[in-house]
Amino acid sequence: MQRNTSQRRNILEIIRQEGHATLPEIEEKLLASGEKMALSTIYRNLSKLESENIVRKIPIKSGDDFYEFYEQEKHDHFICLKCGKIVDIPKKKTNIKSLEKEGKSVEEVVTIYYGLCDDCNKCM
Ligand SMILES: [Zn+2]
Ligand SMILES: [Zn+2]
Repeated sequence: MQRNTSQRRNILEIIRQEGHATLPEIEEKLLASGEKMALSTIYRNLSKLESENIVRKIPIKSGDDFYEFYEQEKHDHFICLKCGKIVDIPKKKTNIKSLEKEGKSVEEVVTIYYGLCDDCNKCM
């Protein structure tokens, strides 16, 4: 039980530091800090944290899903195809409003913008 608590704390600490982190990133950072944890163990911890609404999983079509803290206001993401940087961007509410006018209710919107970030564009 003691061990589970510290695993959980260490995983959360990495997500806090990174802002967004994928499973392999978390594994790598844990290893760098001297804690070897199997991917399946990390995954199990993350699923639990997700079901407790402590972290949120952002599903990525081609690549690793990433995790961030649930308490943050919902936002969209921009992912750089070159350096992999993930940037938070404010969510546009307009589409939701027009859907709601039609009588639909929106549970969740996941929008991900893919492209090149400003830094990568500068080096082109
Ligand atoms: Zn970039
Ligand atoms: Zn985010």
